[in-house]
Amino acid sequence: MSESTTDRDPDPDAEAASITYDGTGVSPLAGVGTAAWYDPGADASLDDPPAPETVDPDAERERFEDARERATTELERERERTAERVGEEEAAVFDAHRQFLDDPQIIDGVEAAIDEGLPAAHAVRRAFEDPISQFEGMDGRMAERADDLRDVRDRLVRLLTDGDRVDLSSLPDGTVLLAERLTPSDTAQLDPDRVAGFATKLGGRTSHAAIFARSIGLPAVVGVGDDLEEIADDEPVFVDGDAGAVTVDPTADQRERANAGRGVEVREERVTTADGEPIEVAANVGTLAELEGAIRQGADGIGLFRTEFLFLDRESPPDEAEQIEAYREALAAFPEGRVVVRTLDVGGDKPIPYLDMPDPENPFLGERGIRRSLGPDADLFETQLRALLRANAAEPGTLSVMFPMVATVSELEAALETVASVADDLASEGLDHEVPELGVMIETPSAALTAEALAERVDFLSIGTNDLTQYVMAAARENDRVAELHDPCEPAVLRAIERTVAAGQAGDAWVGMCGEMAGDPDLTDLLVGLGLDELSMSAVTIPDVKANIAAVETAAAETLADDATDAAASAAVRDRVAKRDRSHSRDSNPDSDSDADPDSDSETP
Ligand code: PEP
Ligand code: MG
Repeated sequence: MSESTTDRDPDPDAEAASITYDGTGVSPLAGVGTAAWYDPGADASLDDPPAPETVDPDAERERFEDARERATTELERERERTAERVGEEEAAVFDAHRQFLDDPQIIDGVEAAIDEGLPAAHAVRRAFEDPISQFEGMDGRMAERADDLRDVRDRLVRLLTDGDRVDLSSLPDGTVLLAERLTPSDTAQLDPDRVAGFATKLGGRTSHAAIFARSIGLPAVVGVGDDLEEIADDEPVFVDGDAGAVTVDPTADQRERANAGRGVEVREERVTTADGEPIEVAANVGTLAELEGAIRQGADGIGLFRTEFLFLDRESPPDEAEQIEAYREALAAFPEGRVVVRTLDVGGDKPIPYLDMPDPENPFLGERGIRRSLGPDADLFETQLRALLRANAAEPGTLSVMFPMVATVSELEAALETVASVADDLASEGLDHEVPELGVMIETPSAALTAEALAERVDFLSIGTNDLTQYVMAAARENDRVAELHDPCEPAVLRAIERTVAAGQAGDAWVGMCGEMAGDPDLTDLLVGLGLDELSMSAVTIPDVKANIAAVETAAAETLADDATDAAASAAVRDRVAKRDRSHSRDSNPDSDSDADPDSDSETP
């Protein structure tokens, strides 16, 4: 992943040379500031343990107990603070830390190491080694639990060695924090008004640090690799969370970009294309804390609420009451806008510890999404549907429910039957309610190839290009080695999209897109030309996409889409996209009114 590209100017009198390090961008935000390394785990005094006979095990046990108590108090404080600043779901990670702190196996491990003659801090380090490497050997989100364990270990070691905690909440203004990795507690302390951004050697887009950075609007790049160490404290650094790059000695252009902020006007109103075609622009959210950002960026509604985040990082699933509250909060945030809630999509890269999930070799081709909801998680599915229908009764009119990973018409029919039976049960319990709009995600090649039959049975289709691309191209979405193939601009993927839109139109179902492709501002014209009614994306890209929609002429976009779907390779598609004809569009005519006409909004796509 880490690959540094140098951009040195041969002229010594010219502007300072820039060196760029590549990693994974976390959000389309850029920041410039001064590098500061953060190394919470470093404590040289732990290298050589003293001779065992000089250690008093009783005293060390007491010190360990005392450190555990102080750690508990700190975690409670940090939980409270995170719940206020970021959100309840993110705060729940500190509950997981409490559980590790109270884990009898870990406590026994520490005490056994003390009995062998190690002082408490050394014993803590030793006792955490095995559990950390066990989690590191797992896939996806489970691997990230290793971060949580390290966080708990470092907290205990710090308390035992009286090490000063670096106060991340009061870093000097304009700090760009560099670290091997950041834990959830580290990231939750960062103040986006003071910190210009961060870059880490390790971590991926779904690491907690990345999720927090997106939620609080911090420029961040993760997974840069060991080359990041070449950057020294106090060097001026540009963090480009969009391109996934960290540049030392930023150019004047980069500084200007960072200081200009996003520079894109937020349009709270709905937009139409330049020739008046309405397109709904919605936000993808995983946590309730992201709702506020979605409103701030001008989302018309929520196009994808990934409900699995309500189920992660906890010991048991949320019950019906807890889910009703969460869904009501999402509905209340957009009283006028559609809120599309996706039923539980676990399996694949999202294992859940308290569910019985065998670990097959190809989890992405195994029990995922609706396959689990119609199989081992049938009870959870019913509870979730009850909660959704009850939330809809309380905040009526804007809920839509969609099913993930559908591959066959019979799966969809079974899901619809479950909705109907839950709806009947609620009615017979005396609940006065209506069944919400229902839809299906198009994420498998089989769903795209049978989209006509699916569209006839639902109100809408939403294309999940992240999975659709991985399955059409047989290229795993998280495997760097095949990243080039995981390209939604591959003609095969575009043809699957084209087919789905045509099927939706024939079946009178609106068609949206909630995969990452929808939020790529370079592709807005192409997606308009393909005929999508709705685009749903990370909130930060909404202003760019709305601006692009307002500038596009449908006829030109359709020509572009025809050319693109006829192309033989993604390179040719991107080339055509780059040369798209905007000669008739409003952004090429600065005198024209570039605001969309709010009166021409349609209620639904
Ligand atoms: C998708 O697959 O495109 C999608 C939106 O779902 P997720 O990324 O949650 O799998
Ligand atoms: Mg998906």
